[in-house]
Amino acid sequence: MVEEIPLPCARLGTRRVLAVHRFGTPGARPKAYLQAALHADETPGMLVAHHLIRLLRKATVTGEVVVVPVANPVGLAQVVEGTHVGRYALDGGGNFNRQFPDLTDAAAERLTGALGGDPVENVRLVRAALHAAHAGLTPVTEVAALRHALLGLALDADLVLDLHCDQEAVPHLYTGEALWPALSDVAGELGCEAVLLERDSGGTPFDEACSGPWRHLAGRFGSETPVPPGCAAATVELRGKADVSDTLAEADARALLRVLVRRGVVAGEAAPPPPACEATPLAGLERLTAPRPGVIAFHRVVGERVAPGDLVAEIVDPTAADLAQARTPLRAGVAGLVMARSNRRFAGMGELVASIAGREPLQRTGRGLLFD
Ligand SMILES: [Zn+2]
Repeated sequence: MVEEIPLPCARLGTRRVLAVHRFGTPGARPKAYLQAALHADETPGMLVAHHLIRLLRKATVTGEVVVVPVANPVGLAQVVEGTHVGRYALDGGGNFNRQFPDLTDAAAERLTGALGGDPVENVRLVRAALHAAHAGLTPVTEVAALRHALLGLALDADLVLDLHCDQEAVPHLYTGEALWPALSDVAGELGCEAVLLERDSGGTPFDEACSGPWRHLAGRFGSETPVPPGCAAATVELRGKADVSDTLAEADARALLRVLVRRGVVAGEAAPPPPACEATPLAGLERLTAPRPGVIAFHRVVGERVAPGDLVAEIVDPTAADLAQARTPLRAGVAGLVMARSNRRFAGMGELVASIAGREPLQRTGRGLLFD
């Protein structure tokens, strides 16, 4: 079944909708929610969603699956002189994958005195409280309405996968520390080469708006009234922006279907998942930025392992009078995996050039400077 959820008319003469593909019985458990292209210029997940929808039509869904293959029709329309601007809202609404509502406080108000000693019953109560908290919000812009609609579709799911991509990257995944290794099947199936863990990455991205309230509520109400982690959510980075093909997308969709089978959402049998890569702290991600503007000449590709001091790229200033000063080396400061790099070949001062997933936390933290 395909449902269309209308977004509010933000400009006279426009009408945008979210297309929602539904499988199984509403309310059946477990529930999985998958969406693609919340950053509207991140195309790989759209084709994966297409293949997954095709596979789900032939499958027996015993739980419930909700797939939103185009999560951001607002951003999809943002083409400026031929260039797609899909990461930030041009109306000033910010990064499309930040500022999702945090429902914790409003849910906690409703749950005070209501929770008991039965964790299963508490899951039901928390889901109802989250729905009520969500219903109590009135978004006042089109982008806020988009965020509100997406959260409303996902907030009661057992599993939430938000399909993104980087600029150029190996497959990787962001999730909460508390959800690892519970999500190692997803990482193993998708062949993730890096898994970045953080307690709160900051800015309330979609996955944390879904999973965060459970952890926060568990902390507030204590062990007498246990609140289990009722929603496992992750941001999945399906390689780079140009890694879009039926071959890759069908393989990814089949991997996701195996996850759904193994988790009891879809009927069938699946072999144990391939082992997942080692998870590293998001705070261990080294961001190599350009200290001066220039042409980016890469010396490493994504997926390579580097040691401290290894040359990853040079920033070349072709205007330099002294050729000895024309090249600025960017060297790895940590041992790790070249997880992602810019898909541009020119950098302005301070712009991100490459990211290295290292094991030890660095000073910087959060998702602030990412291509996620
Ligand atoms: Zn993204």
